[in-house]
Amino acid sequence: MDLDRIMNDLEKKHPGEIEYLQAVREVLESIEDVVNENPHFESAGIIERLIEPDRVLTFKVQWVDDNGKVHVNLCYRVQFNNSIGPYKGGIRFHPSVNLSILKFLGFEQIFKNSLTTLPLGGGKGGSDFNPKGKSDSEIMRFCQAFMLELWRLIGPNTDVPAGDIGVGGKEIGYMYGMYKKLARENTGVLTGKGLNWGGSLIRPEATGFGTVYFAKEMLATKGETLNGKTVAVSGFGNVAWGATLKVEELGGKVVTLSGPDGYIHDPAGITGEKIDYMLELRASNQDVVAPYADEFSEATFYPDAKPWEVKVDVALPCATQNELGEDDAKKLIENGCICIAEGANMPSTPEAIDIFQKKRVLFGPGKAVNAGGVATSGLEMTQNAMKLAWTREEVDEKLHHIMISIHNACVQYGERDDETIDYVKGANIAGFLKVANSMLDQGIV
Ligand code: NDP
Repeated sequence: MDLDRIMNDLEKKHPGEIEYLQAVREVLESIEDVVNENPHFESAGIIERLIEPDRVLTFKVQWVDDNGKVHVNLCYRVQFNNSIGPYKGGIRFHPSVNLSILKFLGFEQIFKNSLTTLPLGGGKGGSDFNPKGKSDSEIMRFCQAFMLELWRLIGPNTDVPAGDIGVGGKEIGYMYGMYKKLARENTGVLTGKGLNWGGSLIRPEATGFGTVYFAKEMLATKGETLNGKTVAVSGFGNVAWGATLKVEELGGKVVTLSGPDGYIHDPAGITGEKIDYMLELRASNQDVVAPYADEFSEATFYPDAKPWEVKVDVALPCATQNELGEDDAKKLIENGCICIAEGANMPSTPEAIDIFQKKRVLFGPGKAVNAGGVATSGLEMTQNAMKLAWTREEVDEKLHHIMISIHNACVQYGERDDETIDYVKGANIAGFLKVANSMLDQGIV
């Protein structure tokens, strides 16, 4: 495989799409050997076909705010690859959303979904709409206008969107209501639905739970457990919340949370009522974590700083892309951190990953570590198709098994000569092989 030629061609076609190009390069670098060992992938053009999305829908959404002012937002759905199942991936509402970010997320989703062991293809969507500070009616009007465009492209067996940053149960509800009205059907077309109308128990916590199950498996390869470990978590959203709950359940102590304004350090541990307080802050649509330190005197707020400077055993970046850079990686290692598991998508920069890999600390990439969210969405689709609902324990147990099997796949394809595990390589190769072989089976379509 001529990696430089492929990347040059891609850069020429998509100049400036930094995140997308970064994600493609990372995957291609780690599957290079496998592709070279399998010339039939090259003759079938698998790589060139895999790195471009099947289709991208771009549309504008116009809506009216509570004061009668008209707004226009840019929206997208990227259908990347459906070789192993319907396109599947979240919808993100955030001012930073652009095509590059959604293509990077959609591309990553192909491999993540392949790893889950479930029949799910890869896609992603979203808008530069900012739900922060909007009233419920404004959010509802926006979601309805968004779905008015999107509904023709999706379906329970073609493309099944879910939530992501800025899209939680409320937004999924408004979108589902509109879809149902337009399509005249009540199906599992979206996941992350409310429990009363087809949602799965555990789905809101699943990404965080799965992140911690994966970290537990990583630690076990070194004969370690989470019991008694201190853990740094970033963000204070959906993923951070689930991870914090599960770390506590498994005997660890989460000592940080963060927002774009800085981070809080709570050496006593973020548990019980403190987690509830964090959820209250979140529900009130505040984009700050500073008030936590006013509420709980044992905590300190560090403005404009990141939690990676705190001495911890385990780090779980759960906020956003590229939030953990080279200096942060050095600091974590200097402070004795032995395990970094990415709850967010691509939170570590390539330079940071390079340091983790060279130092041979346990490093789990997002596409494997946070796959528990989409896996539980897959379980929600199964429950919808069967018209039944599993208990909390059943879903949690299935999620746990899936995370163990993803970890095993990473070990199978990522074991180095010195018997340590390159999880990046393992996840990319395991995810890639299933998709590439399915594309071969199905011909050039
Ligand atoms: P949320 O919007 O619920 O939470 C994101 C959190 O990170 C918010 O608290 C946000 O604060 C904070 N944040 C944003 N930017 C920064 C920053 N620069 N520094 C520190 N904190 C920041 O999103 P999710 O928890 O759902 O998603 C988080 C990550 O996990 C994303 O990368 C997402 O793609 C990924 N993911 C999510 C899944 C899911 O099931 N939800 C599944 C798999 C991956 P604020 O709101 O103020 O911006």
